[in-house]
Amino acid sequence: MPSQIPIDAFSSRLGIDLDAIRANYRAIAQRIAPARCGAVVKANAYGLGVAMVGPALCREGCRTFFVAQLCEGEPLARVVGGDSEIFILNGIDPGSEALCVERGFLPVLNSTTQVERWRTLARATDRPLPAALQVDSGMSRLGLPPAAAIDLASDPAFAREVDLRLLMTHLACADEPARPANAEQLARFRAVHAHFPGVPASVANSGGTFLGAEFHGDLARPGVALFGVDPGPLAEGLRPTVRLDARVLQIRTIEAGTGVGYGLEHVAATRQRLATVAIGYADGWPRCLGGIGAAWHGGTRLPIVGRVSMDSTTIDISALSEEALHEGDFVELIGPSQSLDQVARDAGTIAYELLTQLGARHARIYLENGATQVRAPGDHR
Ligand SMILES: *Cc1c(COP(=O)(O)O)cnc(C)c1O
Repeated sequence: MPSQIPIDAFSSRLGIDLDAIRANYRAIAQRIAPARCGAVVKANAYGLGVAMVGPALCREGCRTFFVAQLCEGEPLARVVGGDSEIFILNGIDPGSEALCVERGFLPVLNSTTQVERWRTLARATDRPLPAALQVDSGMSRLGLPPAAAIDLASDPAFAREVDLRLLMTHLACADEPARPANAEQLARFRAVHAHFPGVPASVANSGGTFLGAEFHGDLARPGVALFGVDPGPLAEGLRPTVRLDARVLQIRTIEAGTGVGYGLEHVAATRQRLATVAIGYADGWPRCLGGIGAAWHGGTRLPIVGRVSMDSTTIDISALSEEALHEGDFVELIGPSQSLDQVARDAGTIAYELLTQLGARHARIYLENGATQVRAPGDHR
């Protein structure tokens, strides 16, 4: 068991609102009913900690989970209980078929060779093995071509060897409702699904759940929307779930002409007050925010000056009075003043990438039912 590090030993705090995650799940589940709502919790629940997020979703009634890799199934299975299904989106790597069966995980069979390896194990063990099948309806990433999937539907041996629990596909443009590709993918998928009567269908990621009822299928697979990120222009009503604050390590005043940070990339044009804050690219705070992004304090935007370092970032606090901010105080990096999406835009990336990079070093403060629980990163209890 990891030793308990007191919260004051951390210079930055990642707040994770489990109530908001539960509310987002509930909102999506209600909107898409009678379709069922699963949850994608790959990459350690998008960086927020599957050991806490998994059980919170369970308490909201979620029983179907998706991770990307077999190695992610284990920590999830430990916390969500035996009545949950865990699908492995990337399918099954050569040599890990038996392990997957033993652990009771459900691989998404994505290619003809994955299907063949699963069927080979089924014949060897003389029983049908449960799995999902993915159809490539136009994204050209993972999945069988429609014709290959239809061939399986007419193969009686396939039905004996594979206990097909889900037929799924993935949308390339779900975050862009106007793209004709969405309806085209749906039509191609439906043509395949017609050959698999009685097998539940799954099409929608977060964005897909906002495209209309025809995209809901029998089971939706939202990920990012659970964590409060708008998955496209039609999304509404999602609650933000994360905030990030970091401590001021030092405050100084510099005169005009003084350089700041690596490469002295910023040179003060006038006298400036600066604060050095305990957040850097090792914390998932993108280096490219140097000279572009900002921190916030008391409703005031505090621009980043110079390059972002590994463990610190320098901000211009000239707009604040001297009493407003002291060494040891926290400034807001993500929160009510500055959304995850805003920071991602400033960094030239998407909220998905920013979210999954956060949290290597922050104390995690989980909020649920008005109570808080503090955890070190990497604490998978
Ligand atoms: C990641 C993923 C999802 C979830 O996507 P979001 O955009 O985060 O909702 C759903 N399905 C598949 C196949 C995925 O890879």
